[in-house]
Amino acid sequence: MAPVLNRTNLVDPFGRHVSYLRVSVTDRCDFRCVYCMAEEMTFLPKAELLTLEELDRLCSAFVAQGVRKLRLTGGEPLVRRNIMSLITSLGRHLRSGALEELTLTTNGSQLARHAEGLAAAGVRRINVSLDSLDPERFARITRRGQLDQVLQGIAAARAAGLAIKINAVALAGVNDDEYDRMIRWCGELGLDLTLIETMPLGDIDGDRTEHYLPLSRVRRDLERRWTLVDSDYRTGGPARYVRVAETGGRLGFITPMTHNFCESCNRVRVTCTGTLYMCLGQEDAADLRGPLRASAGDELLHAAIREAIARKPKGHDFIIDRHQTRPAVARHMSVTGG
Ligand code: SAM
Ligand code: SF4
Repeated sequence: MAPVLNRTNLVDPFGRHVSYLRVSVTDRCDFRCVYCMAEEMTFLPKAELLTLEELDRLCSAFVAQGVRKLRLTGGEPLVRRNIMSLITSLGRHLRSGALEELTLTTNGSQLARHAEGLAAAGVRRINVSLDSLDPERFARITRRGQLDQVLQGIAAARAAGLAIKINAVALAGVNDDEYDRMIRWCGELGLDLTLIETMPLGDIDGDRTEHYLPLSRVRRDLERRWTLVDSDYRTGGPARYVRVAETGGRLGFITPMTHNFCESCNRVRVTCTGTLYMCLGQEDAADLRGPLRASAGDELLHAAIREAIARKPKGHDFIIDRHQTRPAVARHMSVTGG
């Protein structure tokens, strides 16, 4: 894929062009992954969520200002009712050439029935989150998920011609004995694999520090058994990629706790209620739902977007601190979108 380094109308105070938008289309999810949500979640009242029409207007406004890559996330994007109508509608920006990539991050539970529709809408690649290939462990991590269903979804997506990247959150004492197996499995199926460090986002039931696993340690361990060849493949995001010589597969490491990616950050995020966060790790935000609902035209919306980008901060400030009981950022990943 071509690197997303496009020039856009959206330039922040540090000269970074914002060309990548992530949109959370719902805060709801059919899973309750232990690092992401509490067992009992209170979701937002439906009236607070942007409607599918509002989401379309919002995404289209960003595309009109030069955003080239759009990722739908959540919550679980594919549990939102009629989500395929939004995805199909957004496909028009791919056909016009305004948008380079339309993609989504999903837990895969609903993929089997949507894979073909996604491909028909112009989606070419997706990220599927999968933290374990062991059915019982998978059920424990997700609290409600069934591995079989996700594997069927992945098979359907492959059959529909979608490229797939598997995202696995690295959890000490939970799945740290599985990375070899996942590397082999992804290699065999031709899937990319990315390991993600846990981030201190949102209140969850447990203690995060207990399962925090620095990827530098994972990488050192993997290098005893695999030949990891550095690669200059970049997406403008926090991942660093290597090629696994033995499988030919690509392996990414996302280390959000380190500051190594803020300088090249080209992305912003919108929540399912229309709040624009200029940085995943900072609280500063701009309301876009107000301008969306204030008039049928998009002038107010465009102005609000431009104003917000003009104050995108330089970087974030995550810490996982054993003495700190509060998360560094109070909102859940399922609100901002991963
Ligand atoms: N439900 C979809 C899924 O799981 O792919 C999309 C939303 S989910 C919030 C997006 C990504 O964020 C997933 O890959 C998930 O593993 C990751 N994630 C959630 N909470 C996290 C945390 N506290 N630290 C690191 N990654 C997290
Ligand atoms: Fe749901 Fe994704 Fe969060 Fe898991 S990580 S609870 S699948 S939103």
